[in-house]
Amino acid sequence: MATLPVPLHAWSEHQVALGLPPPPGTRTPLPVANSTKAFWFTDPNAYPAPDEGSEGPLTSDADICIIGSGVTGVSAAYHLAHAFSQDENLVAELKRPVKAIILEARDFCSGATGRNGGHLTPDKWSDFVRLENERGLDEALRTLAIERHTADELIRIMGQSGKADYVDLTHGGRLILLFSDEELAKVKANYEASKAAGTNMTGVSWLSKDDVWKQYGAPYPAVFIPGNNLWPLKAVGVLYQLAASASSNFFVDLHTHTAVTAITPISLSNASSHGPFPRRHNLTTPRGQIGCSYVLHATNAYVSHLLPHLTGPSGVVPTRGQVMAVRAGVPADELSAAGGIGNEGLEYWFPRPVKNPAEDAPLVIVGGGREVTQPGFEFYETDDSVVNPAVGKALRAFLPAAFPEKYEEDRAPELEWTGVMGYTRTGDPFVGRVVDSSRGDTAELDGQYLSVGYNGHGMPRAFACAEVVAGMIVSDIRKQKWEPPNWFPKSYLTDSPKPVS
Ligand SMILES: Cc1cc2nc3c(=O)[nH]c(=O)nc-3n(C[C@H](O)[C@H](O)[C@H](O)COP(=O)(O)OP(=O)(O)OC[C@H]3O[C@@H](n4cnc5c(N)ncnc54)[C@H](O)[C@@H]3O)c2cc1C
Repeated sequence: MATLPVPLHAWSEHQVALGLPPPPGTRTPLPVANSTKAFWFTDPNAYPAPDEGSEGPLTSDADICIIGSGVTGVSAAYHLAHAFSQDENLVAELKRPVKAIILEARDFCSGATGRNGGHLTPDKWSDFVRLENERGLDEALRTLAIERHTADELIRIMGQSGKADYVDLTHGGRLILLFSDEELAKVKANYEASKAAGTNMTGVSWLSKDDVWKQYGAPYPAVFIPGNNLWPLKAVGVLYQLAASASSNFFVDLHTHTAVTAITPISLSNASSHGPFPRRHNLTTPRGQIGCSYVLHATNAYVSHLLPHLTGPSGVVPTRGQVMAVRAGVPADELSAAGGIGNEGLEYWFPRPVKNPAEDAPLVIVGGGREVTQPGFEFYETDDSVVNPAVGKALRAFLPAAFPEKYEEDRAPELEWTGVMGYTRTGDPFVGRVVDSSRGDTAELDGQYLSVGYNGHGMPRAFACAEVVAGMIVSDIRKQKWEPPNWFPKSYLTDSPKPVS
């Protein structure tokens, strides 16, 4: 058995390092220019154009400003569009559609969403025992329910809009390779607890080392779970198109290459009235100012640039991840269509569907390797214009070591890139009103919301978190009480108790 090029059992050290204070003077910067090119940006026909709305006049007034054009920001626009499509009363009062703007510092969807591993896999049980012990059964079940809801919804939307093929949606499942007896026991315990709690385990199968070797070519036991992959940038483009065309009651504009550098309050005495809600925030961008009533921070890893109280381990820790696209060493019919996860989720991979007959072998997207940078784990690294050579070396060696007969050791990747994730100490995203308990006067935070910090696992959560935060904004506009959906974990809410640092 080849030696794996990554240290095993690194997760506990990862969590210790995540809890350490940031290096002195750390302030999360804006996203850097000249980011590395992710595979997802290689199709020139993807829409909208990467630099949509980067030139010409800036929309200077909106009801709702969404900062960030990743899956969170664009999903929020999608949910707002659907909520307002039926709202004839509000539109009659405004005498115009509800107006939203998405503001993006770089190209459309060029943050984590446009640079990720392409997995859309709801987690069934990987942390179930801890969640049940710490938060109780109902909350543990909701952490599974939100992921199922997200994946089901994204699959439904891509299917109903006829875009499943455009976004390369696949359902090949996920092989969780278990590299040690310790990892096998832990995954099994979580599986048993989750199953006992009534989780639907359809499609889950446990495989011995011999089974895995015969079927997949890796000499380790594993558990197979259902799972999906897609082209994340294109899926977000579809959501944007659907939001923009949902109804004449809602108008969404997109300005890329328009970073928000500051948010300042507009005093209510100066605020111009816009029907039922006054403008209360001024957003500064290099292209001019924008007045708005509501702000949604959908900036994930970068959230503390505009909200500095979220700097450090009790906030959102920016964390650089690395991915590469490399050809398998065998043709598609000799490689399983399943994606995979290994080493406590730190490595992940999946073979892209082969669409071009000229391709002799599938292109495999493989990411991870941060644990070779211990004790740093790439925390507080925000420069995605470079790759880390040590991580790259581990990633190049990982698949040939795990699947010795399926990958070639000396095969160079066709592309290699980085992106910045947002980690939180609880593992939960922060969703809801912006809350800064250190500030006495929070009036200037009124109307500001966020949904950030998905811990490298945003594809099966962000769409639903955006649904929640959009629902809060809609309820506030309608002066209705907001009620959480039954699939939403309450521990994600910004005003739920968090551990103190
Ligand atoms: C390398 C890597 C691999 C990953 N693999 C997976 C995976 O396989 N499966 C999975 O589920 N998750 C994965 N993730 C995590 C997942 O991609 C994220 O959780 C998710 O995309 C977060 O979406 P978002 O919209 O919240 O953030 P982002 O996609 O990061 O979007 C935030 C946007 O805000 C913009 N922005 C920031 N600050 C400002 C500002 N001041 N003004 C204007 N714009 C601003 C950024 O440029 C960015 O485009 C991975 C992430 C990375 C980096």
